[in-house]
Formats: sequence, structure tokens, C-alpha cells
Amino acid sequence: MIDYQSHLNPAQWEAVRTVDGPVLVLAGAGSGKTRTIVYRLAYMTQQGVPPQRILLLTFTRKAAQEMLHRAGQLMGHGPAALHGVQGGTFHAFAYSVLRRTPPPGFPDRCTLMDRSDAETVMREIKSTAGLGKGDRSFPKTGTILDHYSKARNKELPLDEVVKQESFHLIPYAGAMQQLCDAYAVFRREKGLLDYDDLLFGLESLFRHDPETLARCRERFSHVMVDEYQDTNLVQDRLVTLLVGTGEPGSMGGNVMAVGDDAQSIYAFRGANISNILTFPDRHHGTRLIKLEQNYRSTQPILDLTNAILSQAQAQFRKQLFSDRTDGPVPRLVRPLSDRTQAQIVCEEIIRQCAAYGPEQVAVLFRAGYHSYHLEVALNRAGVRFRKYGGLKYTEAAHIKDAMAYLRVAVNPADMPSMHRILAQVEGIGPKTAASLFNALMAGDAKTVAKLTKKHPQAADMLALLDRLRAAPPRPVPLLEQILEFYQPILERLHPDDHPRRRTGLEELVQIAAGYEDAGQFLADLHLENPEQPEAEGGPAVCLSTIHSAKGLEWRAVHIIDLVEDRFPSRQALLKAEDFEEERRLLYVACTRARDELSLYVPTSIYKRGQNISEPATASPFLREMGVHVFEEWREGYNGMLSKWGGMAREPGSTPAAPAKAQASPPWQPSAAVPKAPPPVSQAAQPAPGDLGWCRHKVFGRGKLVQHL
Ligand code: ATP
Ligand code: MG
Repeated sequence: MIDYQSHLNPAQWEAVRTVDGPVLVLAGAGSGKTRTIVYRLAYMTQQGVPPQRILLLTFTRKAAQEMLHRAGQLMGHGPAALHGVQGGTFHAFAYSVLRRTPPPGFPDRCTLMDRSDAETVMREIKSTAGLGKGDRSFPKTGTILDHYSKARNKELPLDEVVKQESFHLIPYAGAMQQLCDAYAVFRREKGLLDYDDLLFGLESLFRHDPETLARCRERFSHVMVDEYQDTNLVQDRLVTLLVGTGEPGSMGGNVMAVGDDAQSIYAFRGANISNILTFPDRHHGTRLIKLEQNYRSTQPILDLTNAILSQAQAQFRKQLFSDRTDGPVPRLVRPLSDRTQAQIVCEEIIRQCAAYGPEQVAVLFRAGYHSYHLEVALNRAGVRFRKYGGLKYTEAAHIKDAMAYLRVAVNPADMPSMHRILAQVEGIGPKTAASLFNALMAGDAKTVAKLTKKHPQAADMLALLDRLRAAPPRPVPLLEQILEFYQPILERLHPDDHPRRRTGLEELVQIAAGYEDAGQFLADLHLENPEQPEAEGGPAVCLSTIHSAKGLEWRAVHIIDLVEDRFPSRQALLKAEDFEEERRLLYVACTRARDELSLYVPTSIYKRGQNISEPATASPFLREMGVHVFEEWREGYNGMLSKWGGMAREPGSTPAAPAKAQASPPWQPSAAVPKAPPPVSQAAQPAPGDLGWCRHKVFGRGKLVQHL
């Protein structure tokens, strides 16, 4: 039997044993919200709730699997103890229902589109409509889709979102609306679901088909949702539809929502912070539980994260505290450039890997491309790392190619996939691909015959597709046929690195081995986006965007590129609400650290395209923070790091004995993060003979290092 009370504090234990009725756990980072769900899974099962009646909604499938694994371990039976619990994302849950019953208005056979498929479709619609031709200011396909998705997720009219987000596109709002309407019709006709369709499609199914809703309610007696602060309006309604709210005076459904309003980082995608704040108003009899103690980080790290939050316009004030009062004070490191930053971080990582193990070290950044220099440095130093939040496994061209055959086998009307594979036939361009696809759709045998006569490889391809459709839908044998056909194409398209890509395709077959149904396999690949096949295994340092680091923790965390334009992003400097979201993002990043936290402010950033380094200004969040929450280290021109006011040391050598947080700062806040860049001369040209930072009439800002 698990001794719950010795593993949990009283508030956590209350949340665990309140199994009936609605519960809201609203608490700061690292306070044990996710741990509470894990113990509650074990507790509910021990209390006799059948595992298959539990629905666990999380931000990634991996998070759900991890929770189930831990709960199984607690129970001493491994994951099998909780076999039957349905755990994963809202999107995956929606698909699990929709694959049996498609949303109203959609055909029986539907396939999922990813972002690049959606762009293919939208491009086609744009060109058919003849909109934007010759107008270079006309919004790009990707921009139209971004606004469309935002409008759907925020549930606002498209022109409203255009007004809020992109003033310069207002004249095009009507044309954008026209294209989006056509895109919606196209998806319905061809049975193509984009990611947003999954959520809205499920809601519409629940509303139009009471039997399906009743079946789902019957199936899931208990629902738990982690990271509730990042749900959007439709996800919140789906939860309510599933569990019911209860009549006034009676108890609401068995639902537990868990989250932290201060960690809401998906407003840009339509997440609605008020979902969590108004939860008790909408679920009668909600038990509200707050957790105050942080078990993850040391107090010096929490002092810094509290300082970030103290400036925020957060709804619920939280002051995190920890029993772990000792530990190094967070470091603010000021390398001379982002390139030397990579070197300094790399050397710190080598030290920390030896002390903690590589899997306990992470580097976090705002956008995937920020880690470029670091990746080079780590590769050179032979440090193994795994990157999250960058290019996804399924986005690689050869993987997309192989999946496209499978998708067309499942749904012949899948236009983007059909175009993709037809375009691989030598001599077939986008126009012929479109004609052949349309002829196939219209059953125009004459045109099909004419085109395949001209392009015999296309005839072979159509024959393959017929064979795939006739075979049982088991993905492994289907993929084997596909790969045999695709191998010569792969060699022709990728003469340099086809063996490496072939290995990737073999991994795809291995992943498929766990599936009986090709449709489910495709959906899982799309929905779960495996970042890198786990086959590459072995402990590794984690490089991750902050968005992908949600909910996780490491003993040592580095946050790089804390400069204006990068973090916060340029866009966020323009709008107060975006700026606030960036602050929460920094809060999420810093609260991932258990023992050591380092923040980096490079003094200059190298612009690859322009081949110059530009001075960078420290992120405004650092300027607000106050100097008593970190100790500052600067890189000198000799490559040595020296503590502000302290002794120089080689990067990577053992840091000075952990300093205690000082009660009163020995210097003025403005001095802690002085304006980072060396002063830029505003004169158009430097005086002859001057060296240093300047602004050139043609080349812009740069550093004059030598007169020739
Ligand atoms: P986040 O907001 O970042 O998702 P969280 O609130 O979900 O954080 P957890 O990840 O559940 O926090 O817990 C943070 C760490 O604290 C974990 O290592 C967890 O095991 C530990 N922890 C939580 N509660 C306790 C407790 N009562 N006793 C000991 N350790 C605890
Ligand atoms: Mg958590």
C-alpha cells in the first residue's frame, strides 16, 4: 500500500483523495501539481475506479506516458497496473473519437493534414481564385493560415484578428476571408482535417450526435487535465461537455484541472487564461486547492523567479518558497558575443555533465535557430545532445514522402499527398500533377490514360496505390511495398545522403510495428510529432525551446540569448499583452532549474546573412529584476570570465564557492545590466582613423576594426 501522507503534503493529499466532484489545483511552478496527478491516478485505481474509465489530458503524449509510468511504479506493478487509461493530448483524444465517427459534414474517410499540407492546399486555392497575382504585398500563404488559425482558436472574426495583429493587412482582410472560406469547403469535400478541425470537429460531433457524447461520458467517469492554463476556449468546452457541470445546487462532474496562471504561454495560439480562473464558477461545487511550497528549486533560484513575477500583471499573486535554502546564486553571464556564449555554455556543460550526468543539464532558448552556434560547439567537443522544438522527425522530406503514399492509400482525395508523390515522377510538374489528380477525382479515365501513357512511372505509382488499397490496412507490409517503390526515387532525389535517409525510413517501419491500422499510425505520427527517434538513445544534454520544456526539470539550466529582439522577440516589444506573455515564458524557463541556473546576455549578436555582428541590448526583464537575485560574470577580451567585482577565472573551471544572496545590493540596479552594447555612433560615417562601433550608410551598424 502506498503511504500517501508521507509522500505528499496535506494540500496535495486532499487533492488526491477528492475523487468525486470537480477539483481545481491552482499553484506555482514546481509545487507538485503533476506529482499530485500521478498519485491520484494510483489512488483512484486502488479505490476501484477502472483504469479504462480514466481520461488523462496532457500537453504531450510523452508527458501522459511518463505520468502513467510513474503511477505504475508507485503501485509496484509497472505501467501494466494502469493499462487502459487513455492518456494524451486533446488533439489525440479528439482523433480517437473522430476516426470512428467523422465530424458532421465530413466524408467517412478523412486524413489529417500537417502545416505544410495546409500550405499546399491554401496555395492551390489562392492560385485557383487568382487572388494576389502580381501584388507583392498580398499576404503570404503562411500568413493567411496563421491568422485563420488564430481567429478560430480565439473565436474572433478574421478581420478582427487582422486588425489586432497586422494593421498593414487590413486592406486584404476581405480577400483573406474569401480564401479561408474556400479552404473550409475544400477540407470538407476532400476529407482533410487540419489540427484545429480536430477540436471543433469533436465539439460539433458532441453537439449533433448525443449518442456519441453519451458513449464518451459513459466511457470516461473521471477526467484529469494538466497545464489547464494553456487550454483554449474549445478545449474548455470539450471538458465541460464530457463531464457536465452539474445543476446549480448539485455537484459538478468528476474532473480535476491543474495549472498555474503565471505559466500561461500559449495565448498566441488562442489559449485562454480565464479558463482556469473561472473554472470554479462553471463547475458547481469545485474544491479549490492551492499549493504553496516549491519542491523543485533552491531558494536563490526562487528569489529570482519571484522577482520576475513581481513585475507581472498576474491574477493570482504567488510567492514561492522552498526548504532548500542553500545553493548557488543564479549567474548572469555577459559573453562578448553569441559565438563566445556558445563556447562558455559548452564548457560549463562539460563540467555539469561530470557532476550531474548529461540528462540533468538543459539549455533553453526562445526560438529553435538560437542554438545554432551551441550545436556546433557541442558537436566539436563531442558532447551528446538531443534537441527539442526544432525540426520534427515527420517534417523531414523523405519521411513525408513515404507517409504521403500511405495517406493516399487511406484517403484517395488527399490532394497535398497526391501532389507530393506525383511530383516525384520525372517529367511531372505541379500542373500535370494537378490535372492527373483532378482527372482521378472526376473518374475521367481518358485523361488519366493519356497522362499515364506519357509518364509510365505515374502508371506504376497508381498501380502501387491500387495494391495498397486492396491490402489489409496493416502499416508495416504497406510501408515495405512503399519503400521498395520509393528507393530509386530516394536515390535520385538525394544522391548525397540517401543511405542516412534510408535509415530514417527503416526507423519509420519500426515505429509502425506497434500498429494494426494505417490510419491510426498516421494520426499518431502527426499528432505526437516524435522529435527524434528514441532509438538514438543514451543519456544526452537537452537543447530545447522554452515552449517544449513545459513541466520538465533539470539540475542545471542555461538560458541563452537574453537580449532584445530575441527574448523578448521583436514582435513582443510592440504589444503589452505579448510582452507579458514573454515574461511568463522567462518565468517558465527559470523555474525548470533545480540547482543551478545561468542566464546569458551576449553583448553582440552575429547576423549570418549580413556577415556582421550587431550590438545587443539586454532583455528588459533583466533590467527590472534587481541585482540582488543574481551574481554577474563578464567575459573579458582575453576570453576570461570575471565576476563583477570579483576574480577572473577560466570558463568551465569550478565556480567560486556559492555566494549567499545578499540582503542589500552593493551596487545600483542600473549598474547590474548596463546598456549592453558599446555606444553606437549615430554619425553616418566615423571620422577617419576612428575604430569601434558605427553606423554605415549602406551596411548599417557594425564594428570598424581596421582601416586598410
Ligand atoms: P510545473 O508547474 O513546472 O509543471 P509542478 O507543479 O507540476 O511544476 P511537479 O513537477 O509535480 O511540479 O513537482 C516538482 C518537483 O517537486 C518534482 O521533482 C516532484 O517530485 C517534487 N515534489 C513535489 N511535491 C513533493 C512532495 N510533497 N515531497 C517531495 N517532493 C515533491
Ligand atoms: Mg507540472
